[in-house]
Amino acid sequence: MKYISLKNSENSFTLKEAVFKGLAPDGSLFMPEKIPILSNNFINNFHLKDLNEIAYDILKLYVDQEVPSDEFKRIVDETFNFKIPLKELEYNLFSLELFHGPTLAFKDVGARFLSRLLGYFNKGEKRKLMVLTATSGDTGGAVANGFHRVPGIEVVVLYPKGKISPYQEYQIAGPGDNVHAIAVDGSFDDCQRLVKEAFNDSELREQIYMTSANSINIGRLLPQMVYYFYAIAQLRNSNIYDAPVITVPSGNFGNITAAMIGAQMGMPVKRFVAATNENDVVPRFLLDGVYSPHETIMTIANAMDVGDPSNFPRMYQLYNNSLALIKDSLFSASVTDNEIKDTIVKCYKEREYLMDPHSASAYNILKRTLSDKETGFFVSTAHPFKFSEVIEDILPGALKKSGYEVDFELNQANKGEVMKSEYSSFKKIIENLA
Ligand SMILES: *Cc1c(COP(=O)(O)O)cnc(C)c1O
Repeated sequence: MKYISLKNSENSFTLKEAVFKGLAPDGSLFMPEKIPILSNNFINNFHLKDLNEIAYDILKLYVDQEVPSDEFKRIVDETFNFKIPLKELEYNLFSLELFHGPTLAFKDVGARFLSRLLGYFNKGEKRKLMVLTATSGDTGGAVANGFHRVPGIEVVVLYPKGKISPYQEYQIAGPGDNVHAIAVDGSFDDCQRLVKEAFNDSELREQIYMTSANSINIGRLLPQMVYYFYAIAQLRNSNIYDAPVITVPSGNFGNITAAMIGAQMGMPVKRFVAATNENDVVPRFLLDGVYSPHETIMTIANAMDVGDPSNFPRMYQLYNNSLALIKDSLFSASVTDNEIKDTIVKCYKEREYLMDPHSASAYNILKRTLSDKETGFFVSTAHPFKFSEVIEDILPGALKKSGYEVDFELNQANKGEVMKSEYSSFKKIIENLA
């Protein structure tokens, strides 16, 4: 399997090159050169396999000979080492819970897979690999945990000091060892700027081998298609054979793009539904065909606060950049913060099922659009505890009652190193670690 840039299919790259570079040399995104088609035998029988077998069989097609089978099996098993249950909420409507991983969000899947892939590819290199990541909260924890103690890799996670929740800080700064948490005296944009400056610093690039672990990396995207197959396997094993309506709470649209790649491989899907918060670039695009990115609007589903979704070009190209084709397969709508809150409260009161704000946005839109004759599921992307402030506010005591409270202690030992928002300080830290 080769990888090509979205804008230029002339040069092809190995998976190793694609995951190390993150972005293609022309600045656009990597995609597999060709989406492999699964055999009828696989499509008809994958529900007889377990999660790790499904993962191995599908992902091996994207890895080919670049990683030996036994090594690749280890990578898959270490990635998918937590349960991903499909729960029935009401007649023919299900929640696929992706939040049982170590940092309680679906980003664990991508971060665990990418970290192990990079670790494998970097074996035998004399130089350590330095992974730099800026986070506004959620990604940082998954990256810190996913890369923790992966040999040959040092990780630096930058986050805005005092602007993330104590639990998020605990997840980023807790692991230690090869994971370095830096609390930047500034904003998330400052963190991103510092990381960009490091990548653009040719002097630093010469001495140090650096990459990023952000969500545009194809190594984070690919493993996310696995759990959609696994959801369908679980439906079949409860005797539901309909092709489902799949609903995904979307920000950068990576998660839904992974599902769409799965569909092109042959996974049965009735249609896709993308839920957004008030950052509604894609719903508006589907209405009028005009893609107009905007400044990010802050909402209570903040991991979806994206005004210019980075995976949009990948998604659109899967439908030949045709508005008519994408509209055939995808419906998208946005919900307001108040609608999200009402949905969480209503679902909890009616069904004793507690959802985080991201998952609730998807449930809201799926429920509004699913017909009686259809089967649908939405992906629950985060554990309710990760958004405990929102939930305690609207449903005091519900987290505890649902058994969703998490014990943690943020002490001096697991707080990040404070750094001024100055490139010279950042550079010094990187040089000292290399
Ligand atoms: C990142 C994230 C999303 C959005 O996923 P995309 O792949 O960026 O569309 C949704 N929910 C949660 C909890 C997230 O952390």
